[in-house]
Amino acid sequence: MPGLKNDCFALPPGVHWTPVDEALARLREATTVVVEAEELAIDRAAGRVLAEDVLARRANPPGANSAVDGYGFAHAGLPEGDEISLPLMSGRAAAGASVAARVPAGQAVRILTGALLPDGVDTVILQEDVSLEDGHVRFGRGLKPGANCRAMGEDLEAGMPALPRGRRLAPQDLALLSAVGIAQARVFAPLKVGVLSTGDEVVAPGSRAERHQIFDANRPMLLDLLGRFGMEPVDLGHAGDRRDAVRTALDQGGARCDAILTSGGASAGDEDHISALLEAEGTVSTWRIGVKPGRPLALGQWRGRPIFGLPGNPVAAFVCALVFARPALGQMAGEAWHVPQGFILPAAFSKSKKAGRREFLRARVTPEGGAEVFASEGSGRISGLSWADGLVELPDEAMEITPGAPVRYIPYSSFF
Ligand code: AMP
Ligand code: MG
Repeated sequence: MPGLKNDCFALPPGVHWTPVDEALARLREATTVVVEAEELAIDRAAGRVLAEDVLARRANPPGANSAVDGYGFAHAGLPEGDEISLPLMSGRAAAGASVAARVPAGQAVRILTGALLPDGVDTVILQEDVSLEDGHVRFGRGLKPGANCRAMGEDLEAGMPALPRGRRLAPQDLALLSAVGIAQARVFAPLKVGVLSTGDEVVAPGSRAERHQIFDANRPMLLDLLGRFGMEPVDLGHAGDRRDAVRTALDQGGARCDAILTSGGASAGDEDHISALLEAEGTVSTWRIGVKPGRPLALGQWRGRPIFGLPGNPVAAFVCALVFARPALGQMAGEAWHVPQGFILPAAFSKSKKAGRREFLRARVTPEGGAEVFASEGSGRISGLSWADGLVELPDEAMEITPGAPVRYIPYSSFF
């Protein structure tokens, strides 16, 4: 299994400020699958990523069949006139039965939804549209040939691509794979991602905290995000601002995980032990990305494991985890590069946006279908993350936003 290249996160010399799109392109380039594939039964593969393209083994539907409960006949055998009356054969064609007897032209047969079309039947009329009299089925003219029938393979023919490698299996995919005869698939093992909080001021939620201490908000948030990305979160706890504590935690993470997310200590300040330690004993590249919120991202490796050093501020950590860590980790998990689906909505706010940095605002959809943003852009306002149900993404350029202007709204769920 190839790992990531040692210097995969290095920026070219002279790069001091990286636009978001370029940062994403670099992450896309730098990351590749690091987990092994295994063969799993479909009913155990929900949420796993396909390790190979899957082709249909069987057509869907496997044979031409009726889409409704009604009466089947050959369209070409219909008599002249507006009032049609066909003698009804005895017996019936039902789902789950092998094909019924041939239906001669000019006769009809009782047929139920899902039943294979007997020989001689190419059209079905809905039972609600006929009357039955003296062993005859009567109905008006006007039905098209082939009405209410499903052709063999009209959804997928045998051998056609069903799902691509890199697809994370959703419930509807399990239905598709089952329908086309796939009971087992090669899928990747879940990516194990460790989460480590740093900082002397950070204490575990529930413990006694002095005024100078804050509760660890990032760890529960990041662990849950990873689960929603379909990955396996690993709690690496908290390390204070001491190099040996951070080293011990990273060593443990390296032994147990495929990748590590840290929060805090990622800039170049005196107490920024993640950057300092990676600099001294691993590899690190500090990416100054033109994004708000977000301070520098430290991207590096520790004993061969990629490290994403997220900002300590929970709002910035959340946004950077969604925007940058999510697609990069996804590729390491074997997924196709993930682009969150956004929707253009009319702004329900005003703002003068300056040029130079892409901005992600905490936002939600109003009852009228506009995008409103949280009252404060202060990145310490964690409550705004909960107030919102997504982000508004404003472009790198300057922008004058007045109510009704089109803006890109990305629901949180688009990142999952
Ligand atoms: P740093 O990146 O270490 O300079 O931290 C930036 C800000 O985020 C500081 O105000 C930290 O106290 C805060 N912070 C760091 N880690 C956490 C955490 N796990 N939970 C909540 N706030 C944090
Ligand atoms: Mg700190």
